[in-house]
Amino acid sequence: MKKKDKEIKAEISEIFESVQGEGILIGARQLFIRFARCNLRCWYCDTKDLLNREKCIDWINSRELENPVGVEYVSEIVGSRVMKVHSIALTGGEPLLFADFIKTMRKVMNELSVSKPLYLESNMSLPEEAKKIKFVDIVSGDLKIRESGNANYDEIIDNTIKCFRILKNTRKRLTFCKIVLPDRFDADEIVSVAETIKDCVYCFVLQPVFGAKLDTILSLQKAMVEIGDTRLIPQLHKYLGVR
Ligand code: SF4
Repeated sequence: MKKKDKEIKAEISEIFESVQGEGILIGARQLFIRFARCNLRCWYCDTKDLLNREKCIDWINSRELENPVGVEYVSEIVGSRVMKVHSIALTGGEPLLFADFIKTMRKVMNELSVSKPLYLESNMSLPEEAKKIKFVDIVSGDLKIRESGNANYDEIIDNTIKCFRILKNTRKRLTFCKIVLPDRFDADEIVSVAETIKDCVYCFVLQPVFGAKLDTILSLQKAMVEIGDTRLIPQLHKYLGVR
């Protein structure tokens, strides 16, 4: 490993193994690397308490490390678990804030002959960073709704469309779009944005905020199947009570 690569670090809140609880790979066993920063502020965020942590908890080796954590340390954990998981989930927070780290991690994995799909979970708001990691194998990309409570919503959506075009579904990469939904939302606006990105995604996933009523979400699904495969998938890990 080159000396300059060893200096690449990222703020990570935790590293753990669990079951993927969202989207079309629901139930798959994964190694999760949870990055500790996010550029958005969604009111329903269920990882707020895990952001901006001074320490990273490595649940695999029962260790606590000072942040930021070096790429060599994380790559070695990936190498040690590679036979036991379906893929490596890059989650957060927002992993694209650490695109340079992910790029170096992939390089180190290649040097160590560690081959495993990289699964990116992103809010899709940072297109310049998305360009750096076009090698990811699976993308669970968010389409944020206006009711998520983020300022500059129109700018976020412009960037989301750019991100989906950069990380679009191809023969080599599986990209789907996840839409987190509370009880109330502007269905027409969602359908309109979904129409713009429909050719970039394998399918759409409607994910109710935990406990949300389903009637408006089912109506949205009926409208969206007109433009593409649209699945209603709740968060499995909330029902299982696992991380
Ligand atoms: S983008 Fe994700 S991690 Fe960031 S605030 Fe929204 S829900 Fe939380």
